[in-house]
Amino acid sequence: SVKEGVELSRVCVSRRVMVLVNPQSGRGQAMTLYTGPVLSMLTEANISHTLITTEHQNHAREVVRNADLSQWSAIVILSGDGLLFEVINGLMEREDWDEAIRTPLGILPGGSGNALAASVHHYTQAGPALGEDLLLSCCFLLCKGLVCPLDIVSVRLSSGPCLFSFLSLAWGFVADVDIESEKFRHVGAMRFLVGTLLRLASLRTYQGKLAFLEDSTSASVSSSLTLCPRSPFRSSVQCTSHIQGQTNIQHDSENTPHNFNDDDDDEVLLHKKNSKDGRLADNLLNPIGDPVPTDWTVETEQDFVLVLATCHSHLAEELMVSPDARPDDGYLHLVYIKAGISRPALLRLFLAMEKGTHLTCECPHLMYRRVRALRLEPITKPGVITVDGEQVEYGPIQAQVHKGCARIICG
Ligand code: ADP
Ligand code: MG
Repeated sequence: SVKEGVELSRVCVSRRVMVLVNPQSGRGQAMTLYTGPVLSMLTEANISHTLITTEHQNHAREVVRNADLSQWSAIVILSGDGLLFEVINGLMEREDWDEAIRTPLGILPGGSGNALAASVHHYTQAGPALGEDLLLSCCFLLCKGLVCPLDIVSVRLSSGPCLFSFLSLAWGFVADVDIESEKFRHVGAMRFLVGTLLRLASLRTYQGKLAFLEDSTSASVSSSLTLCPRSPFRSSVQCTSHIQGQTNIQHDSENTPHNFNDDDDDEVLLHKKNSKDGRLADNLLNPIGDPVPTDWTVETEQDFVLVLATCHSHLAEELMVSPDARPDDGYLHLVYIKAGISRPALLRLFLAMEKGTHLTCECPHLMYRRVRALRLEPITKPGVITVDGEQVEYGPIQAQVHKGCARIICG
């Protein structure tokens, strides 16, 4: 609408984009990517921004937890998925979390695990892009600045506070590869291939109980895109970015901040209503010690090779695990492989995942379900569980997806 156009242009001149760069991510090249293609594209697009280089783990989390968010039109991460995980959890730790989580988020691939960046590119329906091509594509989307709703998953472990995930929950093969391949970080995204081959050689199974709440319309998997992007910024302010995390002086002609969080989006109203007590109300979950609700499906198989739930199409640049996933479809795409699969069959599945064709392989051990919530209780001990590629406490874990409560800069 015309009114919206006026408000957006006010936002544009009064607020800046926060760009968080993890200089240690991937092969340690994120800073070079920033000073090269990223800076020149942002400058050309007149996107005023402030660079903050992270100095240690949880630095980004602290920055966004304490930031005056009225000053920022978007938070952009140039790193891997791990840094965005920190940012989302930092936003959710704030008193004003329900508004903070509406801050538009952007992702530029600078890490070794760039699942969200690969997914965001995939959603544009452009052909596959890797490495620098993927970076340029994501940078272009950032310059366009259109915003789409993003699902967030609340994750409950047996102890500790609730975690918030935007990407994945993994146990078994994939979680082991993710953590074991950390030592091959210097080869970049190739670390997952190396890790996968090593894990295949020492293939094992994992015992546990899996239950989930299936989507009642699961049969009709839709691959249509239903994004309604909107622009958070269109800046006419000159870029005056500083290295070393200094805050820049603004040269704004107008200073009337507009709060993006004022949107009367139905989903947000719903989650606000639902969540007076907790951060996001997990109305689908029973306490972990109790049986799962009666409308859940309990998997009778207890021997697995892997259990993986993702919110997005890609788990890595060349690993398309859930081709039909969309950023705000409200589903966890649950992929699990039962024990008994042969090494060649498993290798075939991983190779097919490069193009996302594994679900048509008719592999009897591979299961795919669209779910709203799940519970996993590992029996095998010790072991590894990852959330968004980060290792978390090992033990029973539950998760529920919250549709479209965050925002992502997307095609
Ligand atoms: P990658 O895909 O390469 O793993 P991530 O963005 O996932 O990149 O970052 C990996 C980890 O690095 C994250 O857990 C993050 O907290 C941590 N981190 C962020 N900044 C720094 C830093 N300056 N030094 C070391 N680790 C950092
Ligand atoms: Mg990572």
